[in-house]
Amino acid sequence: MCSTKGVQGGNCNRTACQKPNAIWYNVGTFKYYCRNCAIMIQRSANDYGIQCHEPPMVLFEGIFDPLDPRHELDRKNR
Ligand SMILES: [Zn+2]
Repeated sequence: MCSTKGVQGGNCNRTACQKPNAIWYNVGTFKYYCRNCAIMIQRSANDYGIQCHEPPMVLFEGIFDPLDPRHELDRKNR
């Protein structure tokens, strides 16, 4: 079977999730994720940065930016 896991607009790259409409690009893994997983992964990166006194890695650009047009896309896809 042809997999759409992790591709833009395909299924979330997180194995435990794999929801459709993966539109959030992770610059660390070069794969696409759904909104929930993108938020979860970015939050843990932020927490790591705080713990280690480092600037947090930006894995998902725009995930915490309410003006990012992809939030609107997620609403339509729901
Ligand atoms: Zn997901």
